[in-house]
Amino acid sequence: AGERLKALDARHHLHPFTDFKQLGEQGSRIITGASGVYIHDADGQRILDGMAGLWCVNLGYDQPELVAAASQQMTQLPYYNTFFKTAHPPAIELAAELCRLAPEHINHVFFTGSGSEANDSMLRMVRRFWALKGKPEKQWIIARENGYHGSTVAGMSLGGMAPMHAQGGPCVPGITHIRQPYWFAEGRGKGSESPESDTHSRDDFGRLCAEALDARIQELGPDNVAAFLAEPVQGAGGAIMPPDSYWPAIKAVLAKYDILLVVDEVICGFGRLGEWFGSQHYDLKPDLMPIAKGLSSGYLPIGGVLVGDRVADTLIEEGGEFFHGFTYSGHPVCAAVALKTLEIMQREDIVTRVRDDLGPYLASRWATLADHPLVGEARSLGLMGALELVADKASGERFATSLAVGNLCRDICFETGLVMRSVGDTMIISPPLVITHEQIDALVSLARAALDETARQLAS
Ligand code: PLP
Repeated sequence: AGERLKALDARHHLHPFTDFKQLGEQGSRIITGASGVYIHDADGQRILDGMAGLWCVNLGYDQPELVAAASQQMTQLPYYNTFFKTAHPPAIELAAELCRLAPEHINHVFFTGSGSEANDSMLRMVRRFWALKGKPEKQWIIARENGYHGSTVAGMSLGGMAPMHAQGGPCVPGITHIRQPYWFAEGRGKGSESPESDTHSRDDFGRLCAEALDARIQELGPDNVAAFLAEPVQGAGGAIMPPDSYWPAIKAVLAKYDILLVVDEVICGFGRLGEWFGSQHYDLKPDLMPIAKGLSSGYLPIGGVLVGDRVADTLIEEGGEFFHGFTYSGHPVCAAVALKTLEIMQREDIVTRVRDDLGPYLASRWATLADHPLVGEARSLGLMGALELVADKASGERFATSLAVGNLCRDICFETGLVMRSVGDTMIISPPLVITHEQIDALVSLARAALDETARQLAS
């Protein structure tokens, strides 16, 4: 059965973020089932899913309550929209519950079907907000290089990934990108680094990145800048935890000007960093927060924008009709599953467990990989981690890009029984939030075995 599916897949299926020709030649891996933190493929292999799907299956793959919630809602009301003053219980209850869990100044949500749509919606809301405030010239959104905010035209324009901009453009106008706080790739060994005091040099770098925001605002003119957009920890860019100095310095810059802060919580929201929202870890007070993924534990597609009072009050009091929405905005079955996800997370105290137990445990185990000859840095926060692969441990020199060492390690991982994602030569994990200590131990041993095998193949 596996071979037949592989052949059909290669013949008819265009996969996201995939070299179509290479897939045709090599075939895909067919995933046929899953349970707990494991996925199963058509060859009968059981693989520890170190990525929770695409950073989303936070509750693991066998939560019968989510299935029951979907089934019950399918029977009760499989679909209705939320346009033109209609609503249904799951969307209403979910909106209320999200606003209860969100920081105090956030009391409204606009539902979408995905994180990309959430960022598209956010962009329109931000520009509309300033227009309503009589400042239509406030158009510019400043985001970050190497950020990922989705694959719709606005999503990819907000993202700072050059290969995406190069395909199928042009991008949405009025979006610009500043440098990212990626110390290992762009700060280490440069500028004011002092080898005796790593922390000092990281913090200098964090402040430097915030100065880049100030400089860009000055360049564009503060009166023309609508918002700054960033993830608390850049996820798809490489699980990049900013230096401690970064967010306080960014907040100080934003406080000087009247510019909105948008924090993309699509990955960091719902417990990933040990708080309900990643912005709480960094003590941010965003005006808007796009959300998706973990909201339904990935079981069904749903996203949204959490909207702070300043923006919401203006849209409501001064806005009239907002000509925007999706057929599946607040889809009842997706909303019912999201509501159940939030209920389980609270009942099982999952966010606190990530903060006080699983996150620190992963950190202690993950750090042991730093002694591996291929690893230049091992970092983690909550249940998100990264390894930087290097050709020379002492100098931190990278491998030639043409060697595609990250992809080699990723493929070896899969063979070894672990899903670990590669972004260039950065290896990333983001396991389900229900992972146990024993499974974290297994994940770390599988990662070490894959690193050993990668080193062996590079040497041969
Ligand atoms: N924002 C961030 C930070 C993401 O990581 C992603 C997806 O990975 C998105 C937005 C887009 O979400 P979706 O794939 O649901 O459209």
